[in-house]
Parts: sequence; C-alpha cells; structure tokens
Amino acid sequence: IGEDLKNELANDLSTSTPGFSLAKVKEQMFYKVGLADAVDLFRARRVFIKDGFAYVPFKEIDVIVLNNYRTKLSKALALTARSLPSIQSDERLQPLLNHLSHSYVGPDYSIQKNAGKISLEQIDSLSVKSFPLCMRQLHRALRESHHLRHGGRMQYGLFLKGIGLTLEQALEFWKKEFIRGKVDADKFDKGYAYSIRHNYGKEGKRTDYTPYSCMKIIMSNPPSQGDYHGCPFRHSDPELLKQKLQSYKISPSGIAQVLELVKGMHYQLACQKYFELTHDIDDIGFSLNHPNQYFTESQKLLNGGRELKKEFNNSGNFQQKNNSQESINSSSTPTFSNAQADTELEGLEAYFTED
Ligand code: SF4
Repeated sequence: IGEDLKNELANDLSTSTPGFSLAKVKEQMFYKVGLADAVDLFRARRVFIKDGFAYVPFKEIDVIVLNNYRTKLSKALALTARSLPSIQSDERLQPLLNHLSHSYVGPDYSIQKNAGKISLEQIDSLSVKSFPLCMRQLHRALRESHHLRHGGRMQYGLFLKGIGLTLEQALEFWKKEFIRGKVDADKFDKGYAYSIRHNYGKEGKRTDYTPYSCMKIIMSNPPSQGDYHGCPFRHSDPELLKQKLQSYKISPSGIAQVLELVKGMHYQLACQKYFELTHDIDDIGFSLNHPNQYFTESQKLLNGGRELKKEFNNSGNFQQKNNSQESINSSSTPTFSNAQADTELEGLEAYFTED
C-alpha cells in the first residue's frame, strides 16, 4: 500500500499487528491482500482486516507466498495425474518422461571451453583444493593403486576432460599412472588408449562426451567392491565417510552436519556443506548439480573471481590469462543435449572392456 493509505490506517495497523509500534508501522511495507489468501494470519489475529482485505506486513508475506505456491502445486499435480495415462500411452513422450527426473539441464562442461587451462603437474594440488569429494577419492585411488576400474575411469576421465585436460594430456596422464602399476605401455596403448580417444570423440561415433552430472553419478551404476566411482555421500558407509572427512581435517561439528544431511538423503546438500567447510565460507551461494560446477566455483573463489590463471600453450609454456569473462559466459550456457549424450554413453561403456 502507498504511504498515504498507510498513514491513514497507521493506528489500526499498529493495534492489530502484533509487535508493530506506530514507528515500526511507518518503517515497514504493508501489502493489501484478499482475505481468502490470508486466512491463517487472520485466524491467528496477526493482521488488520478491513472491507474484505488483510493488511499484511512484509515479514509475514512469505506465509501468503507459500500458501499460494502450495495451492498452485497441488492443482498442477492433480492435473498431471489426470493427464498422465494419455501421455504415457504416447511412445514419443515415454522416454522423455522416464528420463525427466534424472536429466541434467545445467551448464555444459565439455572440453572446448576449458581446454589447455591446466597442466598435469597441477592436478595433485587441485584435487585437494578444488575437486569435489567423488573426484578427490578417485584421484587418490588412482595415485595409490595406479589403476582404476571401468566405472572410475569413465567418471574421472570425463571430469578431467571437463576441467580442461586435452586429449594428449589425458593420454599422458593415464598412461604414466597405469604403467607404474601392472599395465605395461603396450597393453595400455592396445587396451586403454582407444577408450580415452573415444571419450574425446576421436573414435567410434565421434561424439564429444559430456562429464557426468551429480544426478547421474548418484542414481546410476553404484560402485561394487574395488570400485572408487560414485558419490561418497550416497555410496559410502557413513562410518567410512566420517573417517575420510576426519582425514581431510574437517571439524567434528562440520562432519556432524554433513552426516546429518546424508542421513536425510540430501547428498548434494552434504556436498555443498563440504564445499563450505573446505573453502571456509558460510554460504556456498549456488545450488550444486555437477562435479565440474564444484570445480569451477571453487576456482573462482580461490582465484578471486577468475578461473585458472594460467594457460598451457602449444609449445608447453604457461601464459598468464584472465578468464573471468570467459568463465562466466561458459558456465551460463545451458545445454539440453545431455539426455542424448547419456544414452550414447551407454554404448560407449561397451568399449571399456578392460577391467
Ligand atoms: Fe560428486 Fe556430486 Fe556427489 Fe558432490 S554430490 S561428491 S560433486 S557426485
């Protein structure tokens, strides 16, 4: 309501709105809403009523918004339930509907936008500072056992591609690590190099594969014994998760908060809490949907708004480069092609025959 009306009603607003002195009435905004929308407030005697309208102070307006949202949601759900049988019988819509709850429609973290921004030497320190727990776990397992099984290679390989590893770097990275274990160079070239080139769209259907989203990691292909892929907040035993967080020097109260979220099956919120704890911030300020988003946001925070400061040029030297604008642009372009990419990935997995 405008100032004139508020001044005219000031006395009534003050006496009918609990906790509102005349001075406070003057400071605060009031909304005039139909009585039907403010029944709860009216029933609890928290608002002034006149001529079929309630005068609601700003601090109470969330009750009105919530009620409105709830009403609209329940109407929409009822409508959906009624039309579902006819939609489900349409075979063109069926796959779309089945995929809806798993699909990822956030920014596309594919290689082109970030290629060449990191060097292999940076990966160890980046894994501690800026990798989400799932990728930190995979990196550590790879360094320790010089091998990752199929699910881990897919999840980690595509993540690394998304943060900027070029195909040449990826081949070098995996080969160097694998030949430190039981795989010799020849076996690597024959058994593993093909699948890495495939990930980069250089073999087979030549699709440029997209890194996995949190939803895909959480909902599909759970790890078995000896696997390190998956989401630790979803797939790790809580006691093991607790030990892992302790070893990463997370405070006991922080661990308790993470475990509480895990218990409530809020895995991505638990990961957001982990981000806040490891970056020493109170509010993450974004909603986490993707491991590469975690990495990008972490780098922005650590580099004061910029992503990785260095660019690895073709001659092997680093160049200084401010990527802030580019990073903002690149992370704000939504893609809707991931459902298709996910389907195609199923085909790709067949290429990973080596265990
Ligand atoms: Fe990785 Fe996402 Fe799980 Fe975090 S919530 S650990 S980013 S899969």
